[in-house]
This record gives sequence, C-alpha cells and structure tokens, in this order.
Amino acid sequence: MSLIDYNLFGKIDKVQMAIDRLRTFEPEEGYIIADSGGKDSTCIVALAEMAGVKHECVYNVTTVDPPELVRFLREKRPNTRFQMAHDKNGEPITMWNLIPRKGMPPTRLIRYCCQYLKESNGKGRIVVTGVRWAESSNRKNNQGTVTIISKGADKIPEVQAANFTSTVRGGVVLNDENKESRRAVEICYRTKRTLVNPIIDWTDEDVWEFIRTYNLPYCELYDCGHKRLGCIGCPMGGRKGMLQEFEQYPKYKALYLKAFDRMIVENKRIGRRNDKDTAEEWFDWWVQ
Ligand code: SF4
Repeated sequence: MSLIDYNLFGKIDKVQMAIDRLRTFEPEEGYIIADSGGKDSTCIVALAEMAGVKHECVYNVTTVDPPELVRFLREKRPNTRFQMAHDKNGEPITMWNLIPRKGMPPTRLIRYCCQYLKESNGKGRIVVTGVRWAESSNRKNNQGTVTIISKGADKIPEVQAANFTSTVRGGVVLNDENKESRRAVEICYRTKRTLVNPIIDWTDEDVWEFIRTYNLPYCELYDCGHKRLGCIGCPMGGRKGMLQEFEQYPKYKALYLKAFDRMIVENKRIGRRNDKDTAEEWFDWWVQ
C-alpha cells in the first residue's frame, strides 16, 4: 500500500483523504495540532498547511523527550508553541516532580505520566494527532478518524445518530466523515476530549513516502536507527528499549535516580507504601 492506491471502487489518494478529514471537522476557532516533533507530527503539520485549515501547533513539554527532538522542533518548527502542564496551584508538572508525587515510577500498566504530561492540554478544543492504527493493536482497537475519549460519549444523541463504535475505555470512535459525524464532533468537543486523526490509516511507509515526496525536515535520530521517538525511559519501550536509552542518555538515568530518591523520602514522610530501600533498587525493579 502506498499513498496512491487502487481498489475495486477506484483510486485511493491518502493525502487527499487526510486533507478532506481535516477540512470536514475544522472548528471555527481552529485546531490544536499535537506536535510531538516525531515523523507523524511532521505529516499532520504539513497536511494542516495543505488543507488550509486554521490551526495552532502545540508541543507538550514532557521533560523527558530526547534533546535532539526538542532541538529539532525549536529549529525547524519555530511556530510550534511549547506548553508545559501545570497543577492546580500553578506549579509546572515534570517527570521529576510527578514521580515523588505518585509514589512509584510509571509502569506499562500504570502510565500516569501520559495523562499529566501529554494529555492535559487542549481542553475544549479539537486536537489533531498523528495517531495511526499501524502503531499498535491498542491504537487499532481504540482510535478512529475521530476519537472521543470521555466516558459516556455513547449516550449523547448526536453520537448515537452517527455511525460509532464504543471502545473498551468508554469512549467512541467515528470513522465516517458525513454530516452526522460532523454534528457529533461539534456537540462533543467543548466538553469531551475529542481527537481528529487524519492519518489514522497510514502505514510507516506512507509516512516516509509523504516526508520524502514533500522534502519535509525530520529529526536526525531517525537516521541513527530510531523507528519511533518519545520519552526517554518510557516503560512502553520494555527492558531492552529502556536500557538502550539510558546507555545513550546517562544524564537522564541520573535524573530518574534522583527522582526515585525524592520519592522514597516522600513515601516515608507521608507514610505511603515504599517497597524498596534505595533508588537503585527501584531502578532495577522498574526496568526488569
Ligand atoms: S514516558 Fe511513556 S507513558 Fe509516560 S508520558 Fe512519556 S510516552 Fe507516556
């Protein structure tokens, strides 16, 4: 499959389809484009320009993204706004203060950091993401051209009037770009977290074909063998991935160890369960 393909019904132009999706759901105040700096974000930023839709690109500062990625964004996409998450007292949230607050490192099953560092922005707006089905079976099962994440979305009459699928997480997925879907999005997005995913059906090859065809700049790490870019030490990378990242970025390992030290002190201070005595023990448990 490539960006231009043919089936029984004729030609499929994935670039035009992505542009049409963006135009279909464009809100009056414009989109927030979730620009992580990765290859998929590179595509959605370019597609929003091509579609001529109103938008603002926002990078959620995770504090654990590779320095090369952050530098790439600053240099090549100066219009992308860097936005940091804040708690209810107005204090910035970082991975380094989140771990002591939560009392344990984020794990594959308890990925609290995504919620705080990546998903807390864009409330009341439609967020465009570079999410694709090809990335994982989780995305295949829980994401669509439009994803309305909040629980109870399937009870909204406008959603029920559209062709929707419920997800195991309590949200809904819409894959049609008809007027019923548009209406469902219009009704939902101010109160329910609503994502438009214009390249949901693109493969990795499609992404690279698009980047090369339009000669778009991309982060240098892809040329060093990285297939995906994201937070250093992400538990989703598995033991091998985490250890490789900490070998490449030892300063980040030191920062995690310091955060674990603070976490142990905090756990003891408030009488919270603390299963390990030292930061190193927590680290070994974390990457196992
Ligand atoms: S480390 Fe992984 S789970 Fe945590 S915010 Fe980053 S991507 Fe999400």
